[in-house]
Amino acid sequence: MTVMSALSEPTLDVIQVRRDFPILERQVHGKPLIYLDNAATSQTPRQVIETLDHYYRHYNANIHRGLHTLADEATAAFEQTRDKARDFINAADRREIIFTSGTTEAINLVANSWGRANLKPKDEILISQLEHHSNIVPWQLLAAQLELVIRVIPVDEQGALDMVAYRELFSERTRLVAVNHVSNAFGTINPVREMATIAHQQGALIVVDGAQAAPHEPVDVQHIDADFYAFSGHKVYGPTGVGVLYGKAELLEAMPPWQGGGEMIRTVSFDAGTTYADIPHKFEAGTPSIAEVIAMGRAFDWVNDIGIAMIGSWEQHLLAHATRKMTAIEGMRILGTAPHKAGVISFVVEGAHAQDIGLLIDQLGVAVRTGNHCAQPLLQRFGVEATCRASFAAYNTLEEIDLFVESLERVIGMVR
Ligand code: PMP
Repeated sequence: MTVMSALSEPTLDVIQVRRDFPILERQVHGKPLIYLDNAATSQTPRQVIETLDHYYRHYNANIHRGLHTLADEATAAFEQTRDKARDFINAADRREIIFTSGTTEAINLVANSWGRANLKPKDEILISQLEHHSNIVPWQLLAAQLELVIRVIPVDEQGALDMVAYRELFSERTRLVAVNHVSNAFGTINPVREMATIAHQQGALIVVDGAQAAPHEPVDVQHIDADFYAFSGHKVYGPTGVGVLYGKAELLEAMPPWQGGGEMIRTVSFDAGTTYADIPHKFEAGTPSIAEVIAMGRAFDWVNDIGIAMIGSWEQHLLAHATRKMTAIEGMRILGTAPHKAGVISFVVEGAHAQDIGLLIDQLGVAVRTGNHCAQPLLQRFGVEATCRASFAAYNTLEEIDLFVESLERVIGMVR
């Protein structure tokens, strides 16, 4: 990947980056695709697509259990992604990386394994108002079953967490904080390191939903001191259906298995009972998404070749440009204006339904997301049911932003 050098402007060679994405050549309704729905899923570079293809053509086999060549090759490639994932988020130990189907499954694993083993009636969980439903509902399900209390960390008018309220919400019953690193709906970057420090001082653990952070900024789970950290492959230029749960080794070791089945056991007996494998395998029951895990490893390589910090600063450049241009549109209300934001712009326009904007702008080849972004409590807080959301990735260009804003103005003119 070529990165041109310059001092002030971000120096990503975006034209070169785009060459890796075959899908960006397609047209939608006769117009060149402008893909601004990256917070939902990012597009996939050919290197990742080729890795999937190569797996099925050359070494498709089940892992960890065969003695034949194909099984060995598949196992080695699969386990290599564990090392790559450890490096990607700077975990201390490869055994702290558990492959899941994505962020959702990772959080459900923590809730059902750590939560059931450690939480008692009246224990309290702090959840931020910025959360995606996948970091709310698993805790609500658990709370209903175990009679837990959920307390909500509020956000201010800009969509930033109220850190004074956060400190005040702790009680001697607080056991866990569940917060995202970056909000998918507003792009707010949360001070997760500071939040972890406070949680630990109060004797609570912290589970960080990193689904929207891993694609945009360097993640260091040791620096954050996260107890658990989850993210999805498909938002980091990898395939769908795979993700990572990081957990501190001593926590994972003490946790009971969640799902039972093959691969997660040491011995199984009707008479003598069943014993479990060591971590991480204790939490990886059944045949995983082998090809996708391997290809996710290739996605990490792809990101590393450019540099995640470079991608993040390019997206900040796009964000600043888009925010400037969009703010000039009459009736525009951008929701989420926190000082620390990732490349996400959620907006509503006076006199124009978000749904109409989404549908009409698609006719012009622009893909944005419309709806509640799986963050209904947050939208309720701001008195809206739906917003449009444009979210950026390494391959988006300033020209695309200009075309998007032009298209937006056209569409608003049509529906007003
Ligand atoms: N958390 C956040 C912040 C997200 O943006 C998403 C995906 N929109 C998820 C969790 C869920 O991720 P997945 O669907 O890949 O499990």
